[in-house]
Amino acid sequence: MKIGVLKESQKGEKRVALSPLITKKLFEKGFEIYIEKSAGENSLYRDSDYEEAGASLTTREDIFKLAQVLIKINPFDNEDLKLVQSHHILMSQLYHKSSPELIKAISEKGATAFSMDAMPRISRAQDMDVLSSQNNLAGYKAVILGAYEMTKIFPLMMTAAGTITPSRVLIYGIGVAGLQAIATAKRLGAVVEATDIRSETKEQAESLGAKFISVDNTGEESEGGYAKEASEEYKKRQKEAVNESLFKADLVITTANVPGRKAPVLITEEQVKQMKNGAVIIDLAAGQGGNCEVSKLNEKVIVNGVKVIGTTVAPESVSTNASELYAKNIYNFIIHLTEDLNFKWDLEEEITDETLIVQDGVQRKN
Ligand code: NAD
Repeated sequence: MKIGVLKESQKGEKRVALSPLITKKLFEKGFEIYIEKSAGENSLYRDSDYEEAGASLTTREDIFKLAQVLIKINPFDNEDLKLVQSHHILMSQLYHKSSPELIKAISEKGATAFSMDAMPRISRAQDMDVLSSQNNLAGYKAVILGAYEMTKIFPLMMTAAGTITPSRVLIYGIGVAGLQAIATAKRLGAVVEATDIRSETKEQAESLGAKFISVDNTGEESEGGYAKEASEEYKKRQKEAVNESLFKADLVITTANVPGRKAPVLITEEQVKQMKNGAVIIDLAAGQGGNCEVSKLNEKVIVNGVKVIGTTVAPESVSTNASELYAKNIYNFIIHLTEDLNFKWDLEEEITDETLIVQDGVQRKN
C-alpha cells in the first residue's frame, strides 16, 4: 500500500501528519511512504529524518500521482481537491457535519474519505482518537499561556521578604483539555477549581486535586459521554454556583463544547467586569464561538483590566509533540483498517463505519 503525506497548507499550521518514527514503523510493516518535501520542517523533522526512516521525499503533485492513501491533519482544501482522483483514499479531519460542501466535492471526485474527528468515543478507539491527543496538549498549553500572561506566579512561596499566596485557577469543562489543564495548573502549585455539566466529571477532577464546583444538573442528561446544550435555567444556576470562584480567580480556562453546536456562553461581559484586575481568561472554545461573551478568536481583548484570550492554536504551538501523537493515532488507525497491507473494508465494524464518510464517491454519513 502506498501512503502519501501532504504538507499542511493552513495558515499558522505547524504540524505534520506523520513523524519520522511512525514512518519507520509503517515502512517496517511493508507500507511504501511518500512525504512531501519539507512537510515536517515546522515540527522540526528534517527531510533526511524521513529518508532515513525509509520514506521517499517528493513534490506535492507526485504524491497525488504515486500514493493511493493521502494523509493530512486539516481538511483537504480546494487546491488538494484539484488533484484528487477516484482511486484516492483520503484521511484527515474533515468535520463532515459542518462541511457539507467539502464532502460533496470529495464525492464528486468518486474518491473515498475517512474522517479522523469522527472517531467513536469508545475504549478500543482511544489510541486512534485525534481529538483527545490534540486537546490534551491544548489543555496543557492553555495553562502555560495563562501563566505567561499573568503578573503573578502559581505556587505558594515563602520568602524572607514575605509569603506569596498561590494563584487561583478556575476551569470550565472537564473533558480531555480541562483534565489536562487541571493537572498542569496543580503541578505548578495553583489552587484549582473546576466545573462541568456532567456530574461524572466530579470524581475525575477531584482525583487530580481540583475542587469540583457542583451545579444542580437535573434535566441536563448527557448523551454518549458528551454534554447536550445546557438550558437557560442551568446557565443561571451555574453562574450562581461559580461566580464567587470566578471573581476570585487569577486564571480562568474555558474548554466547554457541545459536539456539532456553537460553544455555550458561560461567562458574560457583565461577569468579566466583576473579575479581579489583572485576571486572565484563556478561551479554548473560541474557534466554536467562545465560552466567554467578549472573546475573539486569536485576539487579546481587555475588559476592565481582565485579559481575555480566544485561541485554538494550542496544539500547533507544541507541534513536535502534537505531530508525534497525531502520527501514532494515524498508525493505529491504518493498522486497524488493514490486513496484509490491504484495506479490510469491514463496514459492520463500528470504527470503520463511523469514520468512513465517503466510499467510492458515495456519501455514507451526514
Ligand atoms: P468536549 O470537548 O466536547 O467538551 C468539553 C467539556 O465541556 C465536556 O466535559 C462537557 O461536558 C463540558 N461542557 C459542555 N457544556 C457545558 C456547560 N454548559 N457547562 C459546563 N461544562 C460544559 O469534550 P471532550 O473533551 O471531547 O470529552 C467528552 C467525553 O468523552 C468525556 O467524557 C471524555 O472522557 C470522553 N472521551 C472518551 C474517549 C474514548 O473513550 N475513546 C476519548 C475522548 C474522550
